[in-house]
Amino acid sequence: MNVTKVKTLIAESEKKYDKAMALTAKAGDLRKKAQKLCEHPATIEEESYFEGTYYDKASTKTYITCAICGKLIDTKIETHSYYG
Ligand SMILES: [Zn+2]
Repeated sequence: MNVTKVKTLIAESEKKYDKAMALTAKAGDLRKKAQKLCEHPATIEEESYFEGTYYDKASTKTYITCAICGKLIDTKIETHSYYG
């Protein structure tokens, strides 16, 4: 493999990278469009537990997202009475 060949491969890889970035941006736009069209008929609640520290009380954060389009609808934080 010579330098010219390697440079060609670099150029091809960069082109693929640019294309992937463009497609990722397009997917993001389409996702936003889907979230606008969606009426969010069903939701999923996912809990994330924070065990707390010496200074911070433990808490549970609930993420409520649409089951269809994945949009974050709401978040709830429940702070517990104990420290980590
Ligand atoms: Zn939705």
